[in-house]
Amino acid sequence: MQAPEETIKKLKAMRDDISHRIEAIEADVHHKKEPVEKDFAEQVTQRENEDVLNALDDESIQTLNQVNAALLRIERGEYGICEKCGEQIDPKRLEALPFATTCINCAE
Ligand SMILES: [Zn+2]
Repeated sequence: MQAPEETIKKLKAMRDDISHRIEAIEADVHHKKEPVEKDFAEQVTQRENEDVLNALDDESIQTLNQVNAALLRIERGEYGICEKCGEQIDPKRLEALPFATTCINCAE
């Protein structure tokens, strides 16, 4: 299945957007690691912030991988095919989730 031009554009925009976000998060994490000479409560808060940022980072990286995988499938002409059952994924599902790899029936 050929991916519509719109979908390709959307996925590329997502890829750029997420890459920038990851860069921003990483810059933020590194910046916040510097001052450690604080009282315990502040250190805890700081660590919690880092955990949140790291979690965000992980999530963004995961999404980025999915977006890149979708772009790869487009190149191979495999876009929109369910990985599990080989059926076509509902275009409405792809519209909502352009990097979906499974049809609605096979989705976890
Ligand atoms: Zn399926």
